[in-house]
Amino acid sequence: MGAVCSGIGRSTDVMANVNQKTFDAKEDFPDLSKHNNHMAKALTPEIYANLRDKYTPNGYTIDQAIQTGVDNPGHPFIMTVGAVAGDEETYETFADLFDPIIEDRHQGFKKTDTHKTCLDPSQLKGGEFDSKYVLSSRVRTGRSIRGLCLPPFCCRAERRAVEKIVSEALGSLEGDLKGQYYPLSGMTDEQQDQLIADHFLFDKPVSPLLTCAGMARDWPDGRGIWHNEAKNFLVWINEEDHIRVISMELGGNIRNVFERWCRGLNEFESQLKSKGHEIMWNEHLGYVLTCPSNLGTGMRAGVHVKIPLISADERFDTVLAKMRLQKRGAGGVDTASEGGIFDISNLDRLGSSEVEQLQCVVDGVNLLVEMEKRLEKKESIDDLMPK
Ligand code: ADP
Ligand code: MG
Repeated sequence: MGAVCSGIGRSTDVMANVNQKTFDAKEDFPDLSKHNNHMAKALTPEIYANLRDKYTPNGYTIDQAIQTGVDNPGHPFIMTVGAVAGDEETYETFADLFDPIIEDRHQGFKKTDTHKTCLDPSQLKGGEFDSKYVLSSRVRTGRSIRGLCLPPFCCRAERRAVEKIVSEALGSLEGDLKGQYYPLSGMTDEQQDQLIADHFLFDKPVSPLLTCAGMARDWPDGRGIWHNEAKNFLVWINEEDHIRVISMELGGNIRNVFERWCRGLNEFESQLKSKGHEIMWNEHLGYVLTCPSNLGTGMRAGVHVKIPLISADERFDTVLAKMRLQKRGAGGVDTASEGGIFDISNLDRLGSSEVEQLQCVVDGVNLLVEMEKRLEKKESIDDLMPK
């Protein structure tokens, strides 16, 4: 051991799993018999035994990493990962588990593969949807500040350091991006509920996926939301990632949303750099984030789209899979769809660029809307089915 936690004052003596030492790893292996998540598929007794006594330089353990996946066997709507990173080094220290998880979750992405980044909106084709069908458009990603542990494992001081570093950098943004930081602790319940109802603010962490991963500790200490005056460029601080950067607006102009998102991200990152901070990033994994599902671009670009007919068609899930899309309910990841309104977003995050992933959403949503219009006229969609 002997590594310090980013110099922010946590003990270097990590004794977290000392009690396990008297037991064999076999006796300590979690019961994963009812499980359907990527971690449960990848974790063998051999891998567990190899990793059980390892720590990251900050003291994060394999048992901490997998706890959310042990306690949450599955999810009704999406295939969850079941493991989270506690710091940047997690992916390396516990590579024997995280590599197969990443490969399984990200379409065979291998340890030797490299990721690419493209934040140039001029390379996007199309992206202005019919607002009769597309009700709102949103693009989000996460970013992590190098040297500070991630939300499942950070100490209070680190979380507060993230809040300070990020809110100061955002404070330098100008023009249409000029905004203000609102810590959760300074908000009334009514203000918070209104922001959540308007889809601007993250839910309180009631989802067991988040709470079992340790992300709700000390709530609401160090958490908050920064947004510009128009509330179309927003940054969540210390939810599931150090930060989530969001651009959104009503209607179908996801091209515009993406343009503002790229511009805001670039300006924010150059402010951070000018103050001597770095973002966690490497050529293999792209942006390093808490959940392995978000590695790569970390981007989820999506629309709320009203498609009652095609979504009731038995071929809906096939179309989504072929177009590399994910569906959610409009109230967020834990909700089912109501009234034929779905949140449709990119499925891929790793190995392709932001522009390529958004292009999938643009092409896929165009297709879904075209199918919907055909079905309204009671016409066949057979010829529109993707190969
Ligand atoms: P994520 O974690 O990817 O940001 P969630 O599914 O947890 O997304 O949803 C977070 C919030 O963002 C929810 O309030 C959800 O309704 C809102 N949201 C997601 N996509 C859109 C969209 N296209 N338009 C409006 N709100 C959205
Ligand atoms: Mg979420």
